[in-house]
Amino acid sequence: MDRNKEPMLESQERVKTFREYALGFSVNLALDEANRCLFCKDADQRCIKGCPIGVDVPGFIKKITEGDLLGAYKKITEADPFPSICGRICPQERQCEGSCILYYDTVRGRKNKGLPVSIGALEKFVGDFIRVSGIHVEEEKLPPTGKKVAVVGAGPAGLACAYDLARWGHEVHVYEALPKPGGVMVYGIPHARLDRSLLDWEIRRLEGLGVKFFFGYVIGRTVSLKELLKSYDAVFLGVGAGRGSLGIKGDHLSGVYSAIEVLTRTHLMNAKDFPASATPIDLGRRTAIIGGGFTAVDCAITALRLGVETHVVYRRTRETSSARDEEWDHIMEEGAIIHWLTQPIEVVGDERGKVIGLKCIKMELGEPDESGRPRPVPVPNSEHVIECDSVIFAIGQKANPVAYEGLEGLKLTKWGTVEVDENFMTSIEGLFAGGDVVNGGDTVVRALSHGRRAAKSIHEYLLRR
Ligand code: FAD
Repeated sequence: MDRNKEPMLESQERVKTFREYALGFSVNLALDEANRCLFCKDADQRCIKGCPIGVDVPGFIKKITEGDLLGAYKKITEADPFPSICGRICPQERQCEGSCILYYDTVRGRKNKGLPVSIGALEKFVGDFIRVSGIHVEEEKLPPTGKKVAVVGAGPAGLACAYDLARWGHEVHVYEALPKPGGVMVYGIPHARLDRSLLDWEIRRLEGLGVKFFFGYVIGRTVSLKELLKSYDAVFLGVGAGRGSLGIKGDHLSGVYSAIEVLTRTHLMNAKDFPASATPIDLGRRTAIIGGGFTAVDCAITALRLGVETHVVYRRTRETSSARDEEWDHIMEEGAIIHWLTQPIEVVGDERGKVIGLKCIKMELGEPDESGRPRPVPVPNSEHVIECDSVIFAIGQKANPVAYEGLEGLKLTKWGTVEVDENFMTSIEGLFAGGDVVNGGDTVVRALSHGRRAAKSIHEYLLRR
């Protein structure tokens, strides 16, 4: 049985709109796909282990085949609180689907030929079905404990942590610098990949559990972490790694942007609707995006929909990039021009200080570096200029220390991320941390996993006090 493809908008339609382009499985497709699962005995060692948050994949797929979608939803949310989100944006081909026995055995030349089960699309189907059908899902909530926890940052790590703590009876206050919750999911990932109505629904679920949100609070400026530690029984720090970096000659020129600026202006401040919205974004006629991860691809999706000729410049190869394979296919179908093995060396400007190009050098693969990936080395005399009106830096996300800089006794790693023990406790009593601020930039599902594991430790910590 062949793997069922999730229906998509055609590429020429996709680029005209920010609406979601992956249209989701119908009931028939979902049932057909679910029936491809072998429910193999050692599945718990493969797809479940391949999932960073440990979703019981065969368990929820079995429920789909039985027509029990509420049961499937409950099975997923035992591990992953947000199925509609993870079903859309997890890099499943490197996680659960990459471990599916159908795929594994094909690779090893065994009998189970075929592509992996579309686990992500099935998870999305289940989450969407529950949301759209309006079926009420009773969330279990323990009686109030009288303990108060502050969560700093409303990204996936903070939201997952708040979710569990509220269910376990604690009073949870989430402090967020931006006017909306969601972290990268609201200010970074384009609507075309993740419709914001999903996030709104998930936030209502959290509010239903009693979680209170406070927006426009830049912890470290509006209120200090020290003050929060005094007023609450515990604090969870989930401030992400939202500081972009520039760093080549010419990066001061007009027309140079950090990826976060482009994405935030377009998706949070609605520059995509300018002049109907108050925030403009001007990438000119042609833009060059530097990077090869999720952020670079999301900038390309955004630029293409703003009608801009889009170049992506990446110093390594597609195989060694951290963006999803299918996303590269999507942006290439939509017209993005990808310059593999190309290292930018200078942003070129005119006499008025405006960007007119990106000077680059071609690379080839050499010996492996510290990460084990072949190190790109410059090809002599291969300098060239890609003409463009703007340059977007989608590289080098770093932890933003505003919330915790200067906090006495807080240990940081040499990369500037916050150091935690196996219980996600920092070097300061009662201060926990997780997500990108700890791992320096990873995935939504790993941030969710940190948030939930930290919540468990916080819960145990609070019960001991
Ligand atoms: P964040 O999502 O960064 O959330 C941190 C929150 O803390 C933000 O809301 C921020 O405003 C707030 N904050 C920061 N400082 C303060 C302060 N001082 N006071 C109060 N609030 C503060 N991963 C995937 O799995 N799939 C993808 O498709 C994907 N695409 C991505 C696209 C882009 C453009 C980027 C940048 C990342 C992408 N990632 C993706 C990675 C993923 O989004 C992150 O790993 C994840 O969001 C980290 O979650 P977090 O909660 O730790 O931090």
